[in-house]
Amino acid sequence: MGIFIFDELTGTPTVLASNRVKRDDQTGAVKTPEAPKENVPKPCYFCKGNESLTPPAVYQDADDWNVRVFFNKFPIVDYHEVIVHSPNHDLDLTELPDEQNVRYVRALLNRTNYYTAQGLEVMIFNNRGGKAGASIMHPHSQLIALAGFPGIIEQEKQEAIRYYNEHHSCYWCDQYKADLVIKDRVVYESKHFVVLVPKASRWSYEMILIPKSHKPNFEYIDEVEINDFARVLKGALKAYDVLFNKPDRNFWIHTQRYDPYHWHVGFIPHIKVVGGLELGAGIWVSDRASPEQAAQELGRQVRLELDGTAVNSISK
Ligand SMILES: [Zn+2]
Ligand SMILES: [Zn+2]
Repeated sequence: MGIFIFDELTGTPTVLASNRVKRDDQTGAVKTPEAPKENVPKPCYFCKGNESLTPPAVYQDADDWNVRVFFNKFPIVDYHEVIVHSPNHDLDLTELPDEQNVRYVRALLNRTNYYTAQGLEVMIFNNRGGKAGASIMHPHSQLIALAGFPGIIEQEKQEAIRYYNEHHSCYWCDQYKADLVIKDRVVYESKHFVVLVPKASRWSYEMILIPKSHKPNFEYIDEVEINDFARVLKGALKAYDVLFNKPDRNFWIHTQRYDPYHWHVGFIPHIKVVGGLELGAGIWVSDRASPEQAAQELGRQVRLELDGTAVNSISK
């Protein structure tokens, strides 16, 4: 099982999870030349009918399931689950019907509730493609639960507390409201959500999705928001598919149990390779488009997908 190790000087966390070396790579991204050549294709572990190849379900929406959740066979930490997006091996969230994406969101909620009720924090993430860290092709997301997340989430949490003490308001509420006034980094605004390109994007075309109503935890999302969230999530991901021809990509849900946090979703398309400046100095090179240009291109695609028109209602 994974063990956390912290850099003594900077506190940067690393999790040692060498048990995962036994994982199958079905994306073809990890080259293991010493592995014996096999001509017989392996069955997909996540397809319907192959449930016996995975640990038993901890959640599924129906006996004849549309969404299925089970423990990761090669966990990074104790609580590490896999959420299979649908029984369909080829269709991802951008191609599935809206009602299926709502089922997917409900599965994430169910598991988040399960762990937060035990006093744990949850991080949900999606890796698509070998460059994004996936080893199985069948569209799926993952959930990790811990007493707390060191690294970026902890930094965000500490900065949010500092911001709250200084301004007596929530950092994310203030950020999205200010960005809606300036408009130039807004990708899309729905009734309940705002999608933005962050000012200091680490990668070109990075996005952040922020719910308008202030809630620290994703588990407080309400019935009306669920439908809107599933829809906007699909639109944001679709923009990447159209602009970059279905790139490898990541998205993740940041959520914390307590204020002054504000849950949100981050998105990155793998259209570049991390180099020495990023790894050696922690300085990100966003060189494909300015945040404003990226927001404009992404916004056009999201509106075409969700509203059937490229007309930008927010810039009126
Ligand atoms: Zn499959
Ligand atoms: Zn807020």
